[in-house]
Amino acid sequence: MVEEAAPGIFRIELPLPQNPLKALNSYLVRGEKRHLLVDTGFNRKECKDVLYGALEELGVRPDALDLFITHLHADHCGLAADLTTSPEAVIYASQGDSKAINRMTDGDFWLGYLRGMAQHGCDDELLHELESSHPAIRFGPSGKIGFSITGEGAVLRYGENELHVLSVPGHTPDHLALYEPRRKILFSGDLILGDITPNIPRWREMKDALGTYLQSLDKADRLDIALTLPGHRSLVRDTKKRIEELRAHHARRLAEVRRILEERALTACQVAAEMTWSMRGIRWKEFPAPQKWFAVNEALAHLDYLAARSEALREEDGGLVRFRRQKSA
Ligand SMILES: [Zn+2]
Repeated sequence: MVEEAAPGIFRIELPLPQNPLKALNSYLVRGEKRHLLVDTGFNRKECKDVLYGALEELGVRPDALDLFITHLHADHCGLAADLTTSPEAVIYASQGDSKAINRMTDGDFWLGYLRGMAQHGCDDELLHELESSHPAIRFGPSGKIGFSITGEGAVLRYGENELHVLSVPGHTPDHLALYEPRRKILFSGDLILGDITPNIPRWREMKDALGTYLQSLDKADRLDIALTLPGHRSLVRDTKKRIEELRAHHARRLAEVRRILEERALTACQVAAEMTWSMRGIRWKEFPAPQKWFAVNEALAHLDYLAARSEALREEDGGLVRFRRQKSA
């Protein structure tokens, strides 16, 4: 599906089959000789077919495309290696996330990452299942990518648009967004989503991913935005209101985690099992492995947030990490 989101800027909806996100928004910014495609979809046939069909419909040749990758997740960068066949093509991404993308194409990277989750109470069965089902392992880029590193303060020009690069970490360690100040348009990646809340996972590179994410939301809140073009689902017309809702969501989540920790010390996996998730009545035990993974990571990001503010204490014992509620004296 192709929709003109704003004059000369097109939203291309790419299907993500069997994924709760349902679809990815890829955006084409029309330029003169070269055009900019913001995010690519998974490296899988279903995305590729729709994307190439849409480019044809728009009269854009793939060899006239430059890419801007908002962040390292495979639904945003999966097709980056396949799309850029022209030697002229520039693939913009942040220093941190581009490094991670290329590291992830090494098979053993994810195995090490997954096994590291055993200390948070994830059992062998779950980790084993993830080795074959994690979307980053199945649908990531097909090979290493020669990125053009960009970051805060850079300006990309395509057509009438002056796209200012913003650093908005949290959802990933070096997440980027693009802001067009004259048209007041924000390409938010997964910083701000309309109908769903972005997953905030724990990253080894970030001690407090949630705190960092909330600071990035504050940064977006200081901008004058008429239209936000998010990485998933519908466009956001009232960005200030949406930011307020996202803040409130995490405040509720933190209150829930504090309550769960009230009685005893728990691993992140145990905390995740007690949190409420919008999985339409499916019980924790029945969660598909990747959803459990995202849930445990999200629980960890909230536990880290509490630990960073001396509201929770992290304890290690017998190879397991548990969190205990810490109350101020
Ligand atoms: Zn993402």
